[in-house]
Amino acid sequence: MSDEKKAAIKKIQATGQMRKIMADYFYELDGAVREGSPKIAWCTSVGPAELLLSMGFLVYYPENHGAMLGATRMANDFIPVTNAIGYSPDICSYLTSDIGSYIKKETPLSRAYKGIEGVPKPDVLVFNTNQCRDVQDWLAWYSRELQVPLMGVSTFRNIGTITDDVLAGIVQQVKDLIEPLEKISGNKFDIDRFRETMALSKKCTELWRKVLETNMASPAPMSFFDATIHMGPAVVLRGSQTAVDYYELLLKELEDRVAQGVGAVEDEKFRLYWEGMPIWGKLRDLSEYFISFKTAVIASTYCNSWIFKAFDPADPFLSLARAYTEIFIVRDEIFKENYIKDIVKRYKLDGILFHDSKTCPNNSNNRYGMPERLEKRLGIPTLTINGDLNDLRCYSEEQAKTNIEAFIEQLEAR
Ligand code: SF4
Repeated sequence: MSDEKKAAIKKIQATGQMRKIMADYFYELDGAVREGSPKIAWCTSVGPAELLLSMGFLVYYPENHGAMLGATRMANDFIPVTNAIGYSPDICSYLTSDIGSYIKKETPLSRAYKGIEGVPKPDVLVFNTNQCRDVQDWLAWYSRELQVPLMGVSTFRNIGTITDDVLAGIVQQVKDLIEPLEKISGNKFDIDRFRETMALSKKCTELWRKVLETNMASPAPMSFFDATIHMGPAVVLRGSQTAVDYYELLLKELEDRVAQGVGAVEDEKFRLYWEGMPIWGKLRDLSEYFISFKTAVIASTYCNSWIFKAFDPADPFLSLARAYTEIFIVRDEIFKENYIKDIVKRYKLDGILFHDSKTCPNNSNNRYGMPERLEKRLGIPTLTINGDLNDLRCYSEEQAKTNIEAFIEQLEAR
């Protein structure tokens, strides 16, 4: 049985530095709004950010704001506001909470950062549909509302092998963005700046991969719940030296933990995979709950989604197209199963948790028999938790915890 009172999350010392660089990032965006320069691009989280940065834009990521709305549990106040203007409760709750927050003129940024009154107004909105169609519809709402140009990349989905034809199509779409972006930014595209930005993103992503891979050690030094917070700089600051410096710091701390045998979970007994979106409003609660069972959730598709192995400054267009097309969410079932199988083996995992996130079918991989197939292939149990990334009305805490407890008893019985 668990004893939740004894469950303590171990603090990661680098958190203070992460908070500082995230604050600097938002204040820089706010300053740009006030000064009218540099121009601001909103970009989907796995969009062509490096191109935008190299052209002198500051880049803001609405999904990051969506996650903040979830983590602060403000989302549930705003989702109904967007439902009321015709956006279904069944579509992405990042979208519905973010647009509702805009309509209500309330944001967690104002609570976290003194003096910031709202999200930074965009000069251009840039999407990549590699994740889902929702991101395009999301930015399209802002385009109509703010009369700001919308452009982007349409990516094939459910891809097995990534062929040259697929990549050529993406490369051309990215190149087609350059001319309109030059007009908006007032800057000419410079291939050397693009290469430099790609080089910095590559360093960032390599360090992030190493950070996550410290969890191959036993005990694992960082939980999935910690990693969802510490991936912030990989999402919003990739392409900068700041992110590189941060991940060097974090990696050192985690390597020290490994060397000293310090785990995120005291007396780690079981090691699990989290498949799907986080439940942002319940990160701490779930983290403590798993710790109370001496169970470490230590690998995930979600945090791995910001590992872009293909980045190559020598061939920036093609490698950007490949990096943003070969991510898990874009791929077919066979690729996804093989991917999870590989991680389960490398991280020596005892079981897999699937989060069926009500408003994100794109990141809910339990719905077409994958858990059952993986149980057979890998000989380990799986559990599906029903919930949502932001809409806590879809999450029953009692049911989830009962199911988790039963699942861990099943692991113990093995
Ligand atoms: S992938 Fe899911 S959570 Fe992310 S934007 Fe699309 S629907 Fe929303």
